Amino acid sequence: MTPVANIEEKTAELEDRFRAANPASAAYFEKGREAMAGPAKGAFYYPPFPLVMERGEDCYLYDVEGRRYVDCANHHTTLILGHNHPAVVKAIADQLSRGVALGAPAGVEAEACIELCSRVASLDRVRYCNSGTEATLHAIRLARGFSGRGKIAKFEGGYHGSHDAVEISVAPPLDKAGPADAPNSVPTAGGMSPYAGQDVVMLPYDNEAAVEKILTANRDDLACVIFDPKAGTMAQRPEFVRFVRGVTRKLDLLLIFDEIVGFRVGRGGLQEYYGIDPDLTTYGKVVGGGMPAGAFGGRADIMDLFDPTKEPPGFFQSGSFSASPLVMVAGLATMQQLTPEAFDHLNGLGERLKEGLDRVFANAGVGGQALVLGSLFSIFFADEMPYTYRAMAAADKTLAHPLFHSLLDQGYFLGQTLGMCCLSTAMEEDHVDGLVDAFANGLRYLTD
Ligand code: PMP
Repeated sequence: MTPVANIEEKTAELEDRFRAANPASAAYFEKGREAMAGPAKGAFYYPPFPLVMERGEDCYLYDVEGRRYVDCANHHTTLILGHNHPAVVKAIADQLSRGVALGAPAGVEAEACIELCSRVASLDRVRYCNSGTEATLHAIRLARGFSGRGKIAKFEGGYHGSHDAVEISVAPPLDKAGPADAPNSVPTAGGMSPYAGQDVVMLPYDNEAAVEKILTANRDDLACVIFDPKAGTMAQRPEFVRFVRGVTRKLDLLLIFDEIVGFRVGRGGLQEYYGIDPDLTTYGKVVGGGMPAGAFGGRADIMDLFDPTKEPPGFFQSGSFSASPLVMVAGLATMQQLTPEAFDHLNGLGERLKEGLDRVFANAGVGGQALVLGSLFSIFFADEMPYTYRAMAAADKTLAHPLFHSLLDQGYFLGQTLGMCCLSTAMEEDHVDGLVDAFANGLRYLTD
């Protein structure tokens, strides 16, 4: 795409406006630094400081200055019903009145797990944990135990949480990443074991021949392939998703399908959408209804390794807060609201958004791509839709931050890179049309 003139000055102008409009959030950020390493968590931060939100209601967030935003991030794609849905609030309040945590089953766990298994054909058994990170950690450990093999394969650019088994080549610098069709395994986060990459075989997205070649060469060492089809965050050909299932089955390798973000496209999630049946699946976000949650499940013969009543004794998986009753009631109440009609409404809004953003890009003459899958969306500045990590890395990144600020200024709260955004069932067509108009305004201001 063509570089935009004066982008630094316009970015500085938008940040100055933001500073002037948000003294209370600025003061809060400075106060926090007395005891926190910057923000309370990495994902909260964007320059010059994050807005402090006082409350959320329906599809809106309200900041400490009293300004209202249409929430198009929904707690990192978690809040599919928007904020404080009455059914979820009631379920949490009822459970709170009976106790926060009881150190014993609270009687809701089976119902929540049965609800999830009833939605997803490949799930015979499921267990809840505290985050998507824990879900992938336990699923991989289970695959290693079941198969008796030590290595795993993952895709370059795939993110599966913060632990050493998976934080390899999430966003590798291109000078370290190796050939596109045989990528290196590069540890991502500072402080990771320098040896962590040795257990991880790297695969390229969108390249059937390379994937088959790499998996065939490493087959005897591999416990599993973990695969996030990056719903709404990077484009995927459905044939490629089905190919990954087919080739893992052909080579007799376990497939762990990461639906931590993707379990919001329909009742049966992404695997129903693509028509595949993984061996194990990991969940998070939506399945906890806004409470801290992860879950993983799949084939009974694998999951039952955790069943203490079965012989031979297998593995132990637990955690002080795993299957917390507050999580289970919030997740169950959320799933119960997710009827076919609710998905029709939500995914219809997604289609309207796609049409609107495509129209804006066509009129603006700026090389841009709107990726929308169901209610998930991301915006890229590239002449073609990116299907691989290398194509994502090549996209222009200079416009996303000032556009994020311009959208905030107009009352729309998105993911800060304009990636991993989403709609909620609390939204109506007007919210989507308003977002499209605000995006057009921001783009016009920045590119004029
Ligand atoms: N897998 C994917 C695809 C994710 O996007 C994320 C987090 N956004 C995770 C795993 C990790 O989940 P959590 O942040 O709940 O640990």
